[in-house]
Amino acid sequence: MDDCIFCKIVSGEIPGTIIYEDEYCLAFEDANPQMPVHTLIVPKEHYASLADDVPADLLGHLFSVVPKVAQIKGVADSGYRTIVNTGDDAAQTVKHLHIHVCGGEPMKEGMF
Ligand code: 5GP
Ligand code: ZN
Repeated sequence: MDDCIFCKIVSGEIPGTIIYEDEYCLAFEDANPQMPVHTLIVPKEHYASLADDVPADLLGHLFSVVPKVAQIKGVADSGYRTIVNTGDDAAQTVKHLHIHVCGGEPMKEGMF
């Protein structure tokens, strides 16, 4: 996807603060963090969202990376929230599948 910002981070065309990489995915710091820890995990291959016929094994792999990222970011024991926004009502702004991993301070009980 030529105009996809996360594809450009995957290809190295634009910079990202990468904290983890393997054959299938990349994890990098969110440019506008909402929490002390706010890291995004993206597949290297472009999928617009969870609704884009993402292979189950790729989804499984992406979620298996969540605890690794939590360990790297130092929130494995304190806890973290994992969010995947899909579509307009969820305010998905970047149309390349990504998992938010957020933590570093207590969150209030609320919607989730
Ligand atoms: P969404 O709302 O689509 O679930 O989340 C997109 C996230 O991507 C937002 O938290 C936003 O701050 C982040 N983001 C948008 N553009 C860039 C960018 O160019 N680089 C990085 N590292 N994060 C970005
Ligand atoms: Zn993309």
